[in-house]
Amino acid sequence: MQSDSSYDVLIIGAGPSGTSAATILAGHGHRVLVLEREKFPRYRVGESLIPFTYQPLERLGLIPKMKASHFQKKYSVSFVQPDGRRSQPFYFHNRYDRDTIAQTWQVLRSEFDQMMVDHARERGVEVREEVEVNRLLTEDGRVVGVEVTEKNGATYELRAPMTLDGSGKEAFAATRQGWRLNDPFLNKVAVWTYYEGSQRESGEDEGATTVAFVPDKGWFWHIPQHNNRVSVGVVADGKYLTRGGVRDLKAIFDREVGENAWIRDHLSAGKQEGPYHITSEFSRHSRYCGSPGLLLLGDALAFLDPVFSSGVMLALKSGVLAGDAVHEALVSGDFNPNRFAEYGATLREGVENMRKLVYAFYNPTFSFKDVIMKYPDMAGEITDCLSGDVNRDYSELWSRIEEFAPLPESLPYGVPLQ
Ligand SMILES: Cc1cc2nc3c(=O)[nH]c(=O)nc-3n(C[C@H](O)[C@H](O)[C@H](O)COP(=O)(O)OP(=O)(O)OC[C@H]3O[C@@H](n4cnc5c(N)ncnc54)[C@H](O)[C@@H]3O)c2cc1C
Repeated sequence: MQSDSSYDVLIIGAGPSGTSAATILAGHGHRVLVLEREKFPRYRVGESLIPFTYQPLERLGLIPKMKASHFQKKYSVSFVQPDGRRSQPFYFHNRYDRDTIAQTWQVLRSEFDQMMVDHARERGVEVREEVEVNRLLTEDGRVVGVEVTEKNGATYELRAPMTLDGSGKEAFAATRQGWRLNDPFLNKVAVWTYYEGSQRESGEDEGATTVAFVPDKGWFWHIPQHNNRVSVGVVADGKYLTRGGVRDLKAIFDREVGENAWIRDHLSAGKQEGPYHITSEFSRHSRYCGSPGLLLLGDALAFLDPVFSSGVMLALKSGVLAGDAVHEALVSGDFNPNRFAEYGATLREGVENMRKLVYAFYNPTFSFKDVIMKYPDMAGEITDCLSGDVNRDYSELWSRIEEFAPLPESLPYGVPLQ
């Protein structure tokens, strides 16, 4: 079989994690090839960014493009009770710099991901679309590249000192290596669609994310986008969503719309567009962050329940951190998996901090308001973690929250396999 060894790094997937790692590595002068199964632009869910996405976007040189884009600006988040009562929006500029971190975006992922691919190409990355990675090539326990098939059926091998897996929550490498583990508790189901011309808030609140509650700790996301559409989806336990034997996605969705007065009112002015989507593959983690010759990125490493919109931030962060770590390995010619231990530990810390808040959120009796009423000085800590400042010591916050709800032990995952 034909084989090509002309790249320093091969990357599976052109999502945010893959293209950010590629952009950093090309910036360091390495020859990078990204392999993407689909033809871009392609659909993706995951449209709401959070404030601390700013730093990786800045490092990638994408802030000017984001500021010049038509993406809906997002300044706040608010919460709505089932009876329609809406909390005061929480404005990020009450805590962060108005011109940088405090202003983030709601993106159409087809366009955002295309922008990232274009940007990577401008920085010298080669991106091949409609090329599927079939398998990892291994020699003496080391990943030495991949076998791919192009759309026209041509199959060939690519070899490089490092392969990065940014394949998203399908988790190409972790699935095939048997490293993938479910989160013991966070196994929710999401059903979502789009509405055109529905009601939205005005002025600075136009781009606010609204989290609207339904019974049993279920919740809607309501994400206004720039094209007169809103992305709207419901997340809850599968048993709750399908109660009474309801299986049809539209029927599930419409029934939950009836459970929240604000969602019902806002959607009633608009028209539902396109298909209803469903996913139940929630919250999976890889036991290892890599092995000799291989490193995992973004969702392929860990996928967390989307309630706090942390996925793209974590994907970009992982891409940037991995890009720098792999650059150092390439320069030194030392690919010992140990050198990626810090990378794995940093991402695990970020995922675990967010995961604790997600667990608390789903606890039937827990409310952030109760914690803040008793410990007002914890409001800032909660805000920082929810905004994506996830690599900090939050031990005081956890000990306070544990008075209200049990928190999960950190999962002992994410070290490299030697
Ligand atoms: C219901 C839901 C709601 C969400 N909401 C949000 C949100 O509001 N905000 C947020 O930040 N995040 C959200 N997320 C999470 C977000 O979608 C992900 O975290 C993010 O897309 C991860 O980026 P990635 O680069 O790791 O993977 P992806 O964006 O999934 O990209 C992976 C790429 O790899 C390609 N690929 C896969 N296998 C192969 C192969 N074998 N060969 C070649 N190419 C391959 C795929 O085609 C894809 O283009 C949500 C997720 C879900 C499920």
